[in-house]
Amino acid sequence: MSVMDAEQDGISFRKVNKWFGRMHVLRDIDLGVAKGEKVVVCGPSGSGKSTMIRCINRLEEHQSGTILVDGIEVNDNKVNIGQVRERVGMVFQNFNLYPHLTILDNCTLAQRWVRGRSRAEAEERAMHYLGRVRIPDQANKYPSQLSGGQQQRVAIARSLCMSPDIMLFDEPTSALDPELVREVLDTMAELASEGMTMVCVTHEMGFARQVADRVIFMDQGAVVESAPPQEFFDAPKEERTRRFLSQIL
Ligand code: ADP
Ligand code: MG
Repeated sequence: MSVMDAEQDGISFRKVNKWFGRMHVLRDIDLGVAKGEKVVVCGPSGSGKSTMIRCINRLEEHQSGTILVDGIEVNDNKVNIGQVRERVGMVFQNFNLYPHLTILDNCTLAQRWVRGRSRAEAEERAMHYLGRVRIPDQANKYPSQLSGGQQQRVAIARSLCMSPDIMLFDEPTSALDPELVREVLDTMAELASEGMTMVCVTHEMGFARQVADRVIFMDQGAVVESAPPQEFFDAPKEERTRRFLSQIL
């Protein structure tokens, strides 16, 4: 990847390494995600998927190599990490909603305190995105009153309220009952079709086939394979990828 590319919007990993103590969990990760591109990341448990995407908004710090988000080096001490985080939304496996706040307040809190928006402006925006994920009627309830699928859609709406350029998803459907998975994947697919840059850790291979521009397989901290979905599923090059696919498909 050239220096010019680094200036462009999107995400770029160059020779990124990370250790937890003496455990080497990311090994020379090279990865570019262009603006508008959708990348699905899969791989066995413990292969470093979460760590990799958490490094993008510095929820974890890498020790060597560079990670650029829209041209900003995330580990540069001169960079306010807020500049990166305001570009990057993240949705986790367990929704991470505030249980003591209503759905509406979950969606307005960061808008008001991080973005300085007025209550009225924040609420208008929240209602817009709750409408987009098709649960505007749940706005005055508390998280525990919603199904897991609804809670996850709130988490997506809450992220979108902050106007991210990039959305990261870390196994967003793996805590859901099977019948609720579809509604969350549909919401994500819709977001993808609107041009959002997305990195999704998921084992939902139907989603990967339908939505991803590229599928990445990680094993033991390394990117082992990276290919467009059709090639990835129909003609994987690496033995480790084939073995993994035979276990999950
Ligand atoms: P995945 O998301 O692919 O399951 P993770 O990125 O969570 O993998 O973990 C990669 C490796 O790093 C695993 O061996 C895991 O046990 C280890 N690990 C993850 N988080 C920490 C942490 N905070 N401290 C120490 N080791 C960790
Ligand atoms: Mg994980």
